[in-house]
Amino acid sequence: MANQTYKIWFVTGSQHLYGEETLRQVAEHSRTMVDTLNSSGRFTAGLVCTPTVKTSDEIYDIMLKANADPSCVGVITWMHTFSPAKMWIRGLKAFAKPLCHLHTQFNREIPWDSIDMDFMNLNQSAHGDREFGHIVSRMRRGVKVVVGHWQDECVLAKIDKWIRVCIAWADSAGMKIARFGDNMNNVAVTDGDKVDAEIRLGYHVDYYPIGDLAAYVDAVSQDEINALLEDYARSYDIAPNAAEGGRDRASVVEAARIEAGLRRFLTERGIKAFTTNFDALHGLHQLPGLACQRLMAEGYGFGGEGDWKTAALVRTMKVMAEGLPGGTSFMEDYTYDFDGSDSAILQAHMLEVCPSIAAGRPRLEVHPLGIGGKADPARLVFGTAPGAGVAATVVDMGNRFRMIVNEVEVVETKAALPKLPVAQAFWKPMPDLAVSAEAWIRAGGTHHTGFSKAIDAEFLADYAEIAGIEMLRIDARTTIEGFMKDIRLNEVYYKLFSLGY
Ligand code: MN
Repeated sequence: MANQTYKIWFVTGSQHLYGEETLRQVAEHSRTMVDTLNSSGRFTAGLVCTPTVKTSDEIYDIMLKANADPSCVGVITWMHTFSPAKMWIRGLKAFAKPLCHLHTQFNREIPWDSIDMDFMNLNQSAHGDREFGHIVSRMRRGVKVVVGHWQDECVLAKIDKWIRVCIAWADSAGMKIARFGDNMNNVAVTDGDKVDAEIRLGYHVDYYPIGDLAAYVDAVSQDEINALLEDYARSYDIAPNAAEGGRDRASVVEAARIEAGLRRFLTERGIKAFTTNFDALHGLHQLPGLACQRLMAEGYGFGGEGDWKTAALVRTMKVMAEGLPGGTSFMEDYTYDFDGSDSAILQAHMLEVCPSIAAGRPRLEVHPLGIGGKADPARLVFGTAPGAGVAATVVDMGNRFRMIVNEVEVVETKAALPKLPVAQAFWKPMPDLAVSAEAWIRAGGTHHTGFSKAIDAEFLADYAEIAGIEMLRIDARTTIEGFMKDIRLNEVYYKLFSLGY
């Protein structure tokens, strides 16, 4: 998906006070750490060891170089020794990429028998990193702070999450999003300020007349259609009416035509996410359902009814999740099952749910849509396997973007759904439906979400920190009282505090 080799620069801070021998050991330790971590294969992007920085000029210089190198998606800083933090002001002010402060120490344990003042003077991150932390906080700069020994699995896991988010952040810089048709008429929550989105979140949203896409669909060759039909036969079970010779086979052929045309349209323009609108289908014979599902599975972001914010979020979550088990999809809160503490939500959409979350082999079916007045569309039908997941949305509050994240537990449906012709997931939101839904509603969240079983809330918290946007998290610890306090405090905070850096 990323199409590029990304790197994280590892920058160690110190000063000249310590003398050559100590600085030599500092550089050697940094090199050992970077080499060990790189050869562990634990990280999604490789680390680049940079020379120890000892002066304000060296810090400024390395930060400018990090900014200028397109393969560098973030910088990890570590103060093995004491690095007086006024030296960092100029460099941090200029630095425009994600920052991770790794608060670690080369030695895991204190060598009780041999420790002397030389050891103490070399292994000073316990106070050197606090000096650095002060200036980052004083400058109100977004940062990920990871504490622990650099070889501990929990430390590596946190760093790799942040690295994945850095890659997703780089991917969204200049990301093109296509809207086929506008936002659905009169719908508030899926709309928003596209100019502010480009300033804050980096992506660019353009409108394309559906007729432009229809021309691509009309130009698709029979060979391209046949290749896709073969792929469908290999990948899915096919309902009798949708199979070759079946009553509704023409709808599947038409769906393949739409898929090939849409893919070409997006590829030629370097578009990474898109929206459709069932109210704006002039020139298409059916709502793109199967095409949206299959393009999402390839890594495209998608939002229904013109929801470009969710389309962008789905793409970004897919980049974070690349290669991890679990799937990521566009989703919609559809119908409740009220059952006391087991209350849950049936999640689906009219058609467009990504088969990356499917439990088992999806089934290709054709059914009437009952909305939009077009021909019966093809779609993949499946359920979602039980397990932990996360549902997220970004809304425009007028003066800022707010991300809302809910931890959820996908559970088995209570029975089969023989008459429901769409893909679905059934989940219990944390801490329970009553608190989750009230919190979500009070936060102004959408009915649409980016849903993932591959990433957790920490990824999204890292993203919000990097983007400098508000994040409200609804999880097992959430109470309405605490959540309302957060909302009210944030209202003041985001009015007073200038966003971005
Ligand atoms: Mn929808």
